[in-house]
Amino acid sequence: MESLLYDKTVSCPVCKHSFTTKKVRSRSLQIVERQDDLNTIYKGINPNYYAVWICPECGYSATENEFDSFNPLHRRVFEENVKSRWNKRSYCGVRGIKEAEETLKLALLIGQLLKKSKSYLGTLCLKLAWLYREASNTKKEREFLQHALTHLTQSYQNERLEGGGIDEITATYLVGELNRSMGNFREAINWYNKTLEHPNIKSRRQLQLKTREQWRLAKEQYDNEKENSNAQATIL
Ligand SMILES: [Zn+2]
Repeated sequence: MESLLYDKTVSCPVCKHSFTTKKVRSRSLQIVERQDDLNTIYKGINPNYYAVWICPECGYSATENEFDSFNPLHRRVFEENVKSRWNKRSYCGVRGIKEAEETLKLALLIGQLLKKSKSYLGTLCLKLAWLYREASNTKKEREFLQHALTHLTQSYQNERLEGGGIDEITATYLVGELNRSMGNFREAINWYNKTLEHPNIKSRRQLQLKTREQWRLAKEQYDNEKENSNAQATIL
């Protein structure tokens, strides 16, 4: 696995400490499976284990894209709530699932504290849900899928999505798919429609086909559910 990783030197934007962290060689990744909610499984490694960079000195944590965008106005709230409580420790080596969970949770906590975008928080929750799926912890998986759904829905309604590392077509598809997995079939269909009606959908052929497939599945599930509740009403 070591060959899939390399060391990157990073400077912490909060305390200026310089440290190395592992990065995944994305060109060496081999896809094993793409799941309906866009979780991709790779051979021999899970890149989400390394999605978050953590400063071992002060505890500042964020994904690579968000790492340098530390707003100095948040320095005090960060120092009071994170730095002062931080037991110096390093996540700079090879990570297991436990470390991956800790890093994503810390990034989520700090992201909430620093009022990062809902789309950023939503994608962190989604990565956590996928981690719990890998660990077969269904209860936690569903809990974090629900958090991801809430954040991404709010993000679509209130934010310009481009800044959060997730584009609008992907976000609407995901909100549809997360609704479907939560059993909100009607809502899912509405979001798949939004995806299919997006002016740029033609440039995303794969996602367009996937959305149509999931639309049909949600419709079937919706019809089944209606039939079952009608049958129940007749019995009652
Ligand atoms: Zn630091």
